Amino acid sequence: MQTKILLQDHQIPKHWYNVAADLDSSPAPILHPGTLAPVGPEDLTSIFPMSLIEQEVSRERWIEIPEEVQKIYQLWRPSPLYRAHRLEAALKTPARIYYKYEGVSPAGSHKPNSAIPQAYYNKMAGIKRLATETGAGQWGCSLSLANSYFGLETTVYMVRVSYGQKPYRKNLMELWGAEVIPSPSNRTEAGRRMLAEAPDTTGSLGMAISEAVEDAASHSDTNYALGSVLNHVCLHQTVIGLEAIEQLKLVEDYPDVVIGCCGGGSNLAGLTFPFVRDKINGKQIRLLAVEPNSCPTLTKGSYAFDFGDTAKLTPITKMYTLGHDFVPPGIHAGGLRYHGASALVSQLHHEGIIEAAALPQTACFEGAVMFARTEGIVPAPESSHAIRAAIDEAVKAREEGQQRTILFNLSGHGHFDMSSYEAYLGGQLEDYAYPEENIAASLAKLPQVK
Ligand SMILES: *Cc1c(COP(=O)(O)O)cnc(C)c1O
Repeated sequence: MQTKILLQDHQIPKHWYNVAADLDSSPAPILHPGTLAPVGPEDLTSIFPMSLIEQEVSRERWIEIPEEVQKIYQLWRPSPLYRAHRLEAALKTPARIYYKYEGVSPAGSHKPNSAIPQAYYNKMAGIKRLATETGAGQWGCSLSLANSYFGLETTVYMVRVSYGQKPYRKNLMELWGAEVIPSPSNRTEAGRRMLAEAPDTTGSLGMAISEAVEDAASHSDTNYALGSVLNHVCLHQTVIGLEAIEQLKLVEDYPDVVIGCCGGGSNLAGLTFPFVRDKINGKQIRLLAVEPNSCPTLTKGSYAFDFGDTAKLTPITKMYTLGHDFVPPGIHAGGLRYHGASALVSQLHHEGIIEAAALPQTACFEGAVMFARTEGIVPAPESSHAIRAAIDEAVKAREEGQQRTILFNLSGHGHFDMSSYEAYLGGQLEDYAYPEENIAASLAKLPQVK
């Protein structure tokens, strides 16, 4: 029985798949944060290169991956697909469980799949420096890595609570040449304002995005790079699902359910979008997004127009949101602490194509430990949400006495998350209640779009 399912180097995808080409209804317009009028490509050129703006609004189905990007992808792609025989045995399940492992990238997660092309297109546009935000540090590391391949400078605004929780992530970014600043900071007007309002704030992705966007917009040689949410980021991540489909063909299998954890939605999009195409074309398949119950964007948020950041600097998109100034509890899956979700993932959820579930963090850590003790790989706390959902599906299959094929994304490893595992194994990890009042208060402040 095959455990590790590999493609050859030359089987790396040559195109990204753009799900917008296969949607019935057109995506909602992107609105200007000041005027609330639809924005055109020109409005975004102060922070993004035109090539990425074009991808953001493209409805072309296949978009070519530049050769230089393919060459760097080939350092770790195609990534392995594993059959989880040992986990299946431990669960005594008749289900077949597969996972696509994105922790093999130098930064340890799926995020370089988009960082590499973003650095490439900015380099081609003559940009010298990229400013960005990072939560748990995965995106900051991935962009620092990508920029070091292309000789670009990196400034990372790192959410303050993660800056404290993940010191080695900061070291890793610095090792790849980045400057790392805890956010909110005194560097930007947005940061100074937020510090004046709440000096002890844990920070949030929304705040850090405000700082990075302001930095980029106020320097002509500097652009902004976002690690999730945007259409072009989801597009770049589709190499994951495209490879997984080919790998499953090698073992003549096809999933009944495909699972990904969801923060902004990029790794979920990357694995599921190529299957969305099959589903739209009539395949019976379930696609499941898993989020923390303390930041339940898809399951408890509103489907509405909202800002991507706290200071209302970013364009307004229609998405599931908990409100742009919602500050989620300081859970250890820092990469899932975002108030919004990708517009494409949101639309697909709204149309009933992608389902969503919310899980508490201790149940996810329990699943992660079981996974580490059977499969050996230590998962990122974010990925543990997908693992827990996959385990629950496998247990259901056992109880119902039904065969089923489960595929999930192991979006990254947890080698820099040992303090989280220490807290869990020491019995010190708590579950946060669903912050209902904070969410209601923040949803009351959504922009009034007619
Ligand atoms: C950032 C991150 C996530 C969450 O981001 P998405 O855009 O929702 O994928 C999930 N897993 C890992 C390992 C991450 O680094």
